[in-house]
Amino acid sequence: MKKITVIPGDGIGKEVMDAGINILDGLNLNFDFIEAEAGFFCFEKNGTTLPEETIKYCEKSSATLFGAITSTPNEKSPILELRKKLDVFANLRPVKSFDGIKSLFNNLDFLIIRENTEGLYSQIESFEEDENKAIANRVITKKASTKICDFAFKKAIEDNRKKITCVHKANALKKTDGIFKESFYKIANSYSNKYPQIIANDYYIDAMAMYLITKPQEFDVVVTTNLFGDILSDEGAGLVGGLGLSPSANIGDKNGLFEPVHGSAPDIAGKQIANPIAMILSISMMLDFLNEKYFSNLIELAVRNVLKDNKVLTPDLGGKSKTMDLANAIKNELKNLI
Ligand code: ATP
Repeated sequence: MKKITVIPGDGIGKEVMDAGINILDGLNLNFDFIEAEAGFFCFEKNGTTLPEETIKYCEKSSATLFGAITSTPNEKSPILELRKKLDVFANLRPVKSFDGIKSLFNNLDFLIIRENTEGLYSQIESFEEDENKAIANRVITKKASTKICDFAFKKAIEDNRKKITCVHKANALKKTDGIFKESFYKIANSYSNKYPQIIANDYYIDAMAMYLITKPQEFDVVVTTNLFGDILSDEGAGLVGGLGLSPSANIGDKNGLFEPVHGSAPDIAGKQIANPIAMILSISMMLDFLNEKYFSNLIELAVRNVLKDNKVLTPDLGGKSKTMDLANAIKNELKNLI
């Protein structure tokens, strides 16, 4: 039996997690769910946003499902801490369009791979009171850059993708992004003899922000540093129907952590109108990681069919349905497909 740690978190995190678990309950999988705490309410209750117990559960599990958390003013972000503790160095954020959903372009299918452990999210910040100055350190190492670029090539080969674009700002951030760009081309060279069909190129982040809007069909795999990846993937979500449809996977050598790209959305929390699809597709990514490829593909197909049908939609997609209505429609479609 596989152990899955479930961290609903705060706000709509709880609502979309309930919907996601409802889908998993409909499948005949031998999973044992362990619920764990993290986030704002956890801080109010336990005085910490990320209890040691939660980290231990995640470390011992086959995978972790994470809903969303609300930030606390002074504490370190628990999701950043958890990604670090589990050493899930690769953050995968697919950008795919769906039939029936308004999007800027049809037939988009690319994957953003974001370095997950360093960069501007290293959380090394200081404040110098005398000068009223705050400093954030942007740590980029050759080791982590090489590891994420190598992961991107392996993933491209596995998924039969044909192009990898490295995104950086090495003209301005000469030292940090200099390392990232150099590591990318070193890795690209090491794969070029055996996989000559994979094209490697690079863009500056500012140009990339524009190209994602003007020619997104050009992209297949995008590999980039932590903050750039975060921003580009929200832009990617905007291209294909919004945050409610955007899943993500955090993958390491030993662990996997799966979460929607969106946050806890306090503005709609408690109203049961959050779109559960980002969470449900994150579960599909978890099943792929756990080698349950049949169910992983089936969930994505069920989501696609329900969206194409265009009858049960939450307000972010222009409908009036509630979170659980949409989850149940997907669950019923799954039953039809099995
Ligand atoms: P964070 O800083 O953690 O990203 P946030 O509240 O700034 O949190 P999100 O929670 O990601 O940002 O969401 C931004 C907005 O997008 C929300 O205010 C909400 O209106 C909308 N949104 C996000 N997720 C969903 C969802 N699953 N369903 C419907 N609307 C959503």
